[in-house]
Amino acid sequence: MKVYPQCAECSSFHCSRVPLEKIDDTVLPSFCPMKNMKETIQSAITKYGEDHVKRIYVPATITEKKAYQVVRGVLMGVLPRIKELIEFAKLVDAKKLGLAFCVGLRDEAARTVAFLKEAGFTVASVCCKCGAVDKTELGAAEDHKIGAAFQFEAACNPIVQAQLLNEAETEINVIVGLCVGHDMLFTIHSKAPVTTLIVKDRLLGHNPVAALYSNYHKHVVKS
Ligand code: SF4
Repeated sequence: MKVYPQCAECSSFHCSRVPLEKIDDTVLPSFCPMKNMKETIQSAITKYGEDHVKRIYVPATITEKKAYQVVRGVLMGVLPRIKELIEFAKLVDAKKLGLAFCVGLRDEAARTVAFLKEAGFTVASVCCKCGAVDKTELGAAEDHKIGAAFQFEAACNPIVQAQLLNEAETEINVIVGLCVGHDMLFTIHSKAPVTTLIVKDRLLGHNPVAALYSNYHKHVVKS
């Protein structure tokens, strides 16, 4: 039977504390990829030497470091994610950023653009409904509409978002609240690397992690 990684079920996380060459295989869980998939891990590590990877990886690591400071003797996170995005974009010398946003988060999108412009970037932004196409024209059925059937219901259009930002030659694209699945299509079609600033959660104020902690929300997830 093929063994596949199940790191989320690990209780030791040796990988986060001990260099590989000092880890005794016998202390690792049976599903640990460092035990069973050594070749894959080695081949992945060689990719960090490639220029297009280095160009993102090293600034990401520097941004991660900048996000911490010792405050009153305690190492703690000090940067909101939007500031990390700004720091990262400056490190990779990006000048033009793209925003692919959900119409339901247009206020958040406008605020994001204002911050990014103030930080010195040129920003192109595309709303998910751009194209003004009915959902049925993109393959959905009338009864897939949220509102009444046979009434115009604008489709989310992540491929249009990606293509317009590709034509604008943005260097980093930022997702603000795209739907599950639409975000995937956007990412697949975006030429620029994609990061997410806001994950849409219609119930939880765009804070999906709340469902993992609250008994009330657990019932909704399991129902
Ligand atoms: S790599 Fe191994 S030690 Fe690290 S979390 Fe996964 S299973 Fe645990």
